[in-house]
Amino acid sequence: DPRVEHAASLIRNVPDFPKPGIQFKDITPLLGDSGAFEGVIDVLAESAPAGIDAVCGVESRGFLFGAPLALRLGVGFVPIRKPGKLPGTVVEEHFDLEYGSSVLAMHIDGIQAGQRVLLVDDLLATGGTLCASGKLIHRLGAEVAQVQVVIELADLGGRANLATCGLNEVLALL
Ligand code: 5GP
Repeated sequence: DPRVEHAASLIRNVPDFPKPGIQFKDITPLLGDSGAFEGVIDVLAESAPAGIDAVCGVESRGFLFGAPLALRLGVGFVPIRKPGKLPGTVVEEHFDLEYGSSVLAMHIDGIQAGQRVLLVDDLLATGGTLCASGKLIHRLGAEVAQVQVVIELADLGGRANLATCGLNEVLALL
């Protein structure tokens, strides 16, 4: 798909960011090109399963793709955020990072039991972030119909990790 090739050409590899030895995938050149950005949203929307009730996006780069995707699909957008950011009653999940741990939270009234949710982030690495996000959605009784990411770092085993969290439908553009 030429839209995917165009997007791929606008991902910048930044060595030693944010730490020495890490090769960071910078999506800002893609965001800065309206045609490429719109192409990515179009491909993601075309790839989404039927009958999606809501899009959940993970702070913070998951918001950048999840919100326009929700508008394109004609459904609401539900943010999954770092703790202390959401004012209402939340469910929280703790998870391990490469160094240390983190927490993600979602409003308990953001989605309803039985809904089919599209879960979106910019990048899949180890899968820890999306596993924790999937657990939040599952705890509210909803189903993750598909996980969508723009970039997958396939060497890190993220897909296998997601399967252990019950996230079996994973679409990565790049
Ligand atoms: P994981 O939990 O799968 O190990 O890491 C994925 C999370 O880390 C995503 O929320 C993503 O935004 C962030 N992330 C990790 N590495 C990169 C990277 O190289 N580029 C970008 N844009 N995000 C990254």
